[in-house]
Amino acid sequence: MKEEIELIKEGKRLDGRGFDELRRIKIEVGVLKRADGSCYLELGDNKVMAAVYGPREMHPRHAQDAKMAVIKFRYNMAPFSTDDRKRPGPDRRSVEISKVCREAFDPVIIRELYPKMGIEVYVELLQSDAGTRTAGINAASIALADAGIPMKDLVSSIAVGKINGEVVLDLNAAEDNNGEADMPIAMIARTNTITALQMDGRMTQEEFGRGLKLAMGACHQIYELQRAALITRYNQNYESKREEK
Ligand code: ADP
Repeated sequence: MKEEIELIKEGKRLDGRGFDELRRIKIEVGVLKRADGSCYLELGDNKVMAAVYGPREMHPRHAQDAKMAVIKFRYNMAPFSTDDRKRPGPDRRSVEISKVCREAFDPVIIRELYPKMGIEVYVELLQSDAGTRTAGINAASIALADAGIPMKDLVSSIAVGKINGEVVLDLNAAEDNNGEADMPIAMIARTNTITALQMDGRMTQEEFGRGLKLAMGACHQIYELQRAALITRYNQNYESKREEK
């Protein structure tokens, strides 16, 4: 059995956070000129860039869907994003995360509007500190909106977990590596619809319920930050166009 590492001291986590506290979130919208939509996002020490291309002609053609757009989602960790250099290129983990992230957007993207087309979503981790898939989903959601992809709503995402027997929000790398459980979720905050949920480790039914409630509350906070970032960006565009006139 794994020896327990002290991750909580005097009711606080090692980075000073309370059990229900998010890491700092920073969002910048429309940072890449060549992409149709983009977003740079920081979640604590995670740094992620999301870029969206499309809807555009889907290649290869045999992968087209005659009735709706096909979403391609690629999650990738840069070789310099971790402590030890990560082997470049796709691996089992990144293929699985790409699939989970793509599925998290299935209920919101109105794919029927673009038969035979492709929508490509790229999530590149520049720096990773646990919770990268949640940071990636939050950034991708904003990049999709920035690209003008018709969506029913934004998707917001965060993980909860268990460390030293306590249910806590938004695990960092030290907590993820030494904790008992990690449960990332994605949801449509406005309707409280869960679009992805994974669980690594063990929690009791009661802990699961408490964790889910904590994560859902945090997704509401993230949703407001995502909306605010998009509004700031589009107000800036509007103001600069007015000044040009
Ligand atoms: P998430 O980042 O979504 O929490 P994991 O739980 O699989 O996904 O990973 C936790 C953390 O472990 C990552 O954020 C990253 O810091 C680290 N990590 C994952 N895969 C690797 C790898 N191949 N090499 C080095 N560090 C890794």
